[in-house]
Amino acid sequence: MPQFTDMSRINVKGGDGGAGCVSFRREAHVPKGGPDGGDGGRGGDVVLVADPQLSSLIDYRFKHHFRAERGTHGQGARKHGRDGKDTVLKVPLGTVVRELDPETQEPLYTIADLTHPGERVVVAPGGHGGRGNIHFTTSVRRAPAFAELGEPAEEHWIELEMKLMADAALVGLPSVGKSSLIARMSAARPKIADYPFTTIVPNLGMVRAGEYSYVVADVPGLIEGASEGRGLGHQFLRHIERTALIMHVVDITGGFEGRDPVEDYHVINDELARYAAELAERPQIVVANKCDAEGIDERLRALRDEALEDGHQFFAVSALTGEGMQALMLACGEQVMKLRAALDTHEEVEEFDRAWELKRRARERRFTVRKLAAGVFRIEGRAVERMVIQTDWENEEAIIHLQHRFQRMGVFDALAEAGCRAGDEVRVLERAFDYESADDLYADDPVDDEDVDLSFVTEINVGDDDAETDDPAPQDAGWAGEQR
Ligand code: GDP
Ligand code: MG
Repeated sequence: MPQFTDMSRINVKGGDGGAGCVSFRREAHVPKGGPDGGDGGRGGDVVLVADPQLSSLIDYRFKHHFRAERGTHGQGARKHGRDGKDTVLKVPLGTVVRELDPETQEPLYTIADLTHPGERVVVAPGGHGGRGNIHFTTSVRRAPAFAELGEPAEEHWIELEMKLMADAALVGLPSVGKSSLIARMSAARPKIADYPFTTIVPNLGMVRAGEYSYVVADVPGLIEGASEGRGLGHQFLRHIERTALIMHVVDITGGFEGRDPVEDYHVINDELARYAAELAERPQIVVANKCDAEGIDERLRALRDEALEDGHQFFAVSALTGEGMQALMLACGEQVMKLRAALDTHEEVEEFDRAWELKRRARERRFTVRKLAAGVFRIEGRAVERMVIQTDWENEEAIIHLQHRFQRMGVFDALAEAGCRAGDEVRVLERAFDYESADDLYADDPVDDEDVDLSFVTEINVGDDDAETDDPAPQDAGWAGEQR
């Protein structure tokens, strides 16, 4: 039995940023010109776009890893690297995107709910390009011989879940005539048969009645106990979470098992309520089907009374003969129109976008200091680790630059608090370095022939959340002026 793909987990990674360039102007009459190394290009983003042409997440069933293009490296003569291309992934309307916990793989929070055609969300931003050495001039460092490597993009897992986008959902026990009804109401031609679970994939049909046009979903049979995860029901109940109107279909003949229609009606309502109390309170239209059959008057009356008592509209129809269908379709259309406005839960995707990224960055900025042994400490945390990856370890100035970033993040304070003393070993990823007190740090700086204050060193941004430091520092402007 083919399985309906409506949920998938994918691994996404933006493109890495290109490296900044170390370069100096070369002119015949100038022995050593000023720095002119350009920035690396930004890595491309992985973007999801809601596409009304798609009806499933089947594209994400076998391919699970998606990458965007990396930025190219900066070059001399202030030439910036090229930005990497975005990777755009199409998903069906009604796709909910969730961030997964990197450790437990449990959903953490919703990144976006793509309900409108063309809605987009960046699920994996590309890394920033590294800055070229033109950025690292200060009042005392005239010839910065280092640049920043590109920011590596983070990869992470997200969950995609497609929720069926329908205005009304046909629900009811197996064989009550849901498929027959949707076939009658719309151009959809689902399989119709006598045995349960004929329809294993929810079927959408576009209904046109009078001035109305709306989408009806044929949701395969609910079985008893479905809300507890038994059988197929639970999987499909998810599809009607967002459906405004429930068309509750009951076989008025009681089927060949001779069931009681009123009892069937309660079985389904109980299932809905067990799955989500809110579902039971949805507006319902109760549809007694197979009214072409003989000797149904008493049962029809009983069901009608029950439905009306619950405050639902009631219709007696026959999918076989078409009797009562037009009235049902018009009533449904009217209800759908009323409910559409109320159900429009559209939220600004921009907000989702910012919110999840900030959350992730905040999580990444956290770090821990662990004492591994006497005099040996390890710092763990994504942002700290990323800074280490971005550092050119062959280049002493780049390492000093990293130290300044560490200090700004409070890494040294945390180390001191953890009992780290001068001469101790500090490890980050596969790197180990000696810890020196803040005073030593100044003494060690090769540009420290003059009296350097840390605040004069150009800071580079760690992430979007300190973007305000993104502007060139004033001392850069002074240097640029001198160049012209
Ligand atoms: P589903 O399982 O709810 O989708 O039900 P189907 O649409 O597959 O129908 C189940 C059986 O009931 C089929 O044999 C249909 O031909 C029959 N059926 C559906 N609607 C009617 C109706 O209005 N009158 C009669 N007599 N039989 C019907
Ligand atoms: Mg069916």
